[in-house]
Amino acid sequence: MAAASENEQDLSARLVAGDRRALARAITLVESTRADHRETAERLLAALMARTGGATRLGISGAPGVGKSTFIEAFGGHLTGTGHKVAVLAVDPTSSRTGGSILGDKTRMGGLARDANAFIRPSPSGRTVGGVARRTREAMLLAEAAGFDVVIVETVGVGQSEVAVEAMDDSFLLLVAPGGGDELQGIKRGVMELADLVVVTKADGGLETPARHAAADYRSALTLIRPKADFWTPEVHLVSALEGRGIDAVWAALSRQLAGLKGAGGLAARRRAQARRWMWSEIEHGLLESFKSHAGIAEAVAEIETEVADGKLPATLAAERLLATFGKAD
Ligand code: GDP
Repeated sequence: MAAASENEQDLSARLVAGDRRALARAITLVESTRADHRETAERLLAALMARTGGATRLGISGAPGVGKSTFIEAFGGHLTGTGHKVAVLAVDPTSSRTGGSILGDKTRMGGLARDANAFIRPSPSGRTVGGVARRTREAMLLAEAAGFDVVIVETVGVGQSEVAVEAMDDSFLLLVAPGGGDELQGIKRGVMELADLVVVTKADGGLETPARHAAADYRSALTLIRPKADFWTPEVHLVSALEGRGIDAVWAALSRQLAGLKGAGGLAARRRAQARRWMWSEIEHGLLESFKSHAGIAEAVAEIETEVADGKLPATLAAERLLATFGKAD
């Protein structure tokens, strides 16, 4: 329809001009499950691709309560204060269960939410980390097209979501609380391996000494982990977001790491690999969707599933039969 495409062009033009409401509207379109919205979103993304890729893409993760939103508020404010435009997106696989979202409560980043050079978007709802991450990835591209030069993707530390975020970021910050020992044990080795920077939060007042001890513990833990890249050794930094200390050093460290990545031609290679992986995960997702919605499969699956659950049919054979039915489709 002509009217629809005019609206679309208008939306695209406003987004490119940096209009935050247009960006929010475009993200709503990519998050929508309505087929016509998806079609519009895909056309929009395709048209904007040439304008994407210009941002520094940061993943920030940490357990609930570690101080992520306080840190992002201070860090984001530091960046907008030095001329950057910052978008904060979230991948929160728990939001669909709790009905809330890590960024749902805007008061958590009140200052940044009011900042004209910042854009904050709560996690889309979705059942799976993968599903939520797909939409966040598209939102990231839209934010880049809208001129945001730092895109922060925040996630709650639950293992899977860090991996999803690492698949779209240039740099990964792991936030940890003061108090070494037990906390250190609680962080999965796999997550530590993803970190370019470990940031010990709340290094102020009575927590400053425990924070220093924690930093020493993380430094020695990191020596046991093989670095992700030969040009960068992960660093541990102490920060007090409440007092605004250590924030600039984190940005300086990230800038060094990114310069190293760019210098080695690694950034382009990393993004190419991420884009390819993303395409394949879309294919996997698409195949699974059409498999599940295929009429022949839908009819057969309940019965075969029961046979598998009852131990009457081996799972491999059941899968083979269903795949054969799918393969015969059309
Ligand atoms: P999130 O759940 O990871 O987003 O954590 P929040 O940012 O909501 O912080 C959790 C709690 O830690 C709040 O009570 C904050 O006030 C407190 N907190 C966060 N950053 C700091 C800090 O730099 N110093 C101190 N002392 N407390 C902090």
